[in-house]
Amino acid sequence: MIVEAASDIAEDFGPEYWRTKDREHEFPEDFWLTLVKAGFPGILVPEEYGGGGLGMFEMLLAMETLTSEGCGLAGMWFLVLSPVFGGLSILKHGSKTQKEKYLPRIAEGMEFCLALTEADAGTNTLNTRTLAVKEGDGYVINGQKMFISGADRASGMVLVTRTTPLEETEKRTFGLSLFAVDLPDQAVEIVPIEKHGINYSKTFEVYISDLKVSADNMLGDVGKGWYLVLDTLNPERMAFSAGAYGLGLLAIRKAVEYAKERKVFQNPIGSHQAIQFPLAEAKAKIEAARLLNYQAAWLYDQGKHCGAEANMAKVAAVEAGTDAVYHALQAFGGYGYAVEYDVERWWREVNLIRLAPVTHQMALAFIGEHVLGLPKSY
Ligand SMILES: Cc1cc2nc3c(=O)[nH]c(=O)nc-3n(C[C@H](O)[C@H](O)[C@H](O)COP(=O)(O)OP(=O)(O)OC[C@H]3O[C@@H](n4cnc5c(N)ncnc54)[C@H](O)[C@@H]3O)c2cc1C
Repeated sequence: MIVEAASDIAEDFGPEYWRTKDREHEFPEDFWLTLVKAGFPGILVPEEYGGGGLGMFEMLLAMETLTSEGCGLAGMWFLVLSPVFGGLSILKHGSKTQKEKYLPRIAEGMEFCLALTEADAGTNTLNTRTLAVKEGDGYVINGQKMFISGADRASGMVLVTRTTPLEETEKRTFGLSLFAVDLPDQAVEIVPIEKHGINYSKTFEVYISDLKVSADNMLGDVGKGWYLVLDTLNPERMAFSAGAYGLGLLAIRKAVEYAKERKVFQNPIGSHQAIQFPLAEAKAKIEAARLLNYQAAWLYDQGKHCGAEANMAKVAAVEAGTDAVYHALQAFGGYGYAVEYDVERWWREVNLIRLAPVTHQMALAFIGEHVLGLPKSY
């Protein structure tokens, strides 16, 4: 049912729609409202809070169907920002009050953003400098965040801070604390970052000056935020892998349609091995990555460790998805470079997956250290 519903939505919001939204830098309001109406943001929200009570596996089905059937990365993107970044953080670590406050609203389309990355910390989250200082029965927060997607529209933000500066913690992984922050707030200023792709969704620098929050806004225990962050990293990876798979499949399908028709010598270009084999290879590899991603989701939904599978799926999906879009672009020849044929947009989109939410190198470092047992590489 999820696949059918996603497929119907994708039919109404095909590549032409996204071409315009990307060019105009315009939020796809009608697409988002359609997802909300179909209940997609609530897939992971338990039934008692008004959601579908389903798991990450079902979320991946929705994401990859929307993506592969015409929405491109947008098919994954809007379901990761609010339902995974916001929804899962609160579902997994929120208090009963926080769950009652936010989960029904997330199921009804409340938008969230995740403020984790900082300019000076980058991949090294433990170097987070945004500081939350206890004052009375609340906290005052100051700091700066980088690359925060959807901060212009979000009415909630999962904010990663330090309640103990790195220099003062007994262990580097201690002292991080997460807050659920209501937006807008005049203590939070946003500055847009012009970027390469997914221009229908904006990304920002975020400046936080004397933001006052109640201690009740904290997610989980004080100083234990690192372990909460780790917990949401795996579903984020799975979501982006579904995006890579979907983009790969979409690009291959379009390239195959084109390569069957296009003739410049006697036979269609798809009969040439140089065009056909890379597409065949990419297809085999994206399907393998998809199964590994399903395995990661299955483990996650069973409450089992899934770090190895989630990271391996991400590495495999990024490589396969990038190859797929690249070779699709080549199959289109010069037209692949033309906006009208959409592949150039999917190329810009798929390149993000190598960088976020975890960089390719850090996913490899995880596999090297935790799966293969090699010495830490950094
Ligand atoms: C469009 C977009 C949207 C984003 N949205 C969000 C968001 O909503 N919320 C959020 O919090 N963040 C978001 N991000 C941030 C994203 O997660 C980070 O850009 C990413 O984690 C990398 O951080 P960095 O850019 O500082 O790279 P750096 O940490 O500076 O890394 C630069 C390069 O060096 C490599 N590198 C660094 N250390 C090592 C090492 N030890 N071993 C090997 N290689 C290494 C990295 O892999 C990378 O290739 C977004 C980014 C983009 C581009």
